Amino acid sequence: MIRYYCPYCNPKYQFQKQSSKGNLICGLCGEDLVKKPFIRLNQIIALVAASSLLLPLIYTFIFLIKNQINPPNKNYQAKSTSIIITKETLL
Ligand SMILES: [Zn+2]
Repeated sequence: MIRYYCPYCNPKYQFQKQSSKGNLICGLCGEDLVKKPFIRLNQIIALVAASSLLLPLIYTFIFLIKNQINPPNKNYQAKSTSIIITKETLL
């Protein structure tokens, strides 16, 4: 079923009316009604934009929490090996 809507009026207060010509018009302003697409393109664009902004934020947030719980030991290992190397070179 294709739904019709008026692009000028509030969707909450819209009601359909049939004009004398036989096509559907808005009951409030008398404009021709527009076919409502199944999924709105604006909604998809908004969702993509929101996710592209939020996903890196969420990812960095998770990464920060993960690092605070178990800090990476790569730096400690690098320090200890460098100490060993310097000891060996001194001896
Ligand atoms: Zn209207």
